[in-house]
Amino acid sequence: MSDKRIIVAIDGPGGAGKSTLAKRVAKRLGFLYINTGAMYRAVALWALRLNVDMSDMHRLEQLAKEADIELDPETGDIRLNGEDVTQAIRDGKVSAAASKVSAVAGVRRALLRIQRGMAQETSVVMEGRDIGSVVFPKAQVKIYLDAHPEERARRRALEHQEQGDAVHRDDVAAELNRRDQQDRARAEAPLMQAPDAQLVDTTGLSIDEVEEVILSLVRSRISNGKEAIR
Ligand code: C5P
Repeated sequence: MSDKRIIVAIDGPGGAGKSTLAKRVAKRLGFLYINTGAMYRAVALWALRLNVDMSDMHRLEQLAKEADIELDPETGDIRLNGEDVTQAIRDGKVSAAASKVSAVAGVRRALLRIQRGMAQETSVVMEGRDIGSVVFPKAQVKIYLDAHPEERARRRALEHQEQGDAVHRDDVAAELNRRDQQDRARAEAPLMQAPDAQLVDTTGLSIDEVEEVILSLVRSRISNGKEAIR
């Protein structure tokens, strides 16, 4: 790891606010924003489109290796094999498939390589489930974002409504719960709070408040990086 490169790792379950916060914090710091969940979703979308059996680990690994994934470091928009799939990967079917695809060791290996490569020469805010535990265990800043399950479901339902999808909060809660359980229980890189990660409970806090909590954590961890923080 080069001396100047700074990794801010943000992990946590669905609906904790990772994407919104990671994007904002990256902008404030002038770092790249990398949403690793979008990468697993892109592989899942491709697998669904090709009707790949979700238990065919070999084929899923092959797709992950062949996928041409491009992330826009400012907006978080994602392209898969040249196609903008930013909206398509938000579908409920893709969420469920992403959780299955992400349990496959070969898929994780392929995406891990890309994720590490993206941060090779530049400072990043990377969010996901295993960034502080597996992708960058030596990250200078590790945050585990969480919130009460009801609040996470409420936020996720609101996101769907804003996109024009009619969803019931109970269905969203059940889906989030199912996915979190799968992500926590899997053998490969399960969702967990790294022992040295700082827990930030966002229940009842506004986005601005959480942003300030995270930025002050970053400031306190990085003694020589102040010039990068606006
Ligand atoms: O963050 P998001 O909800 O978009 O992630 C979709 C799925 O991708 C998660 O439920 C999880 O199964 C998987 N994922 C993962 N490791 C990451 C990021 C996401 O396993 N670092």
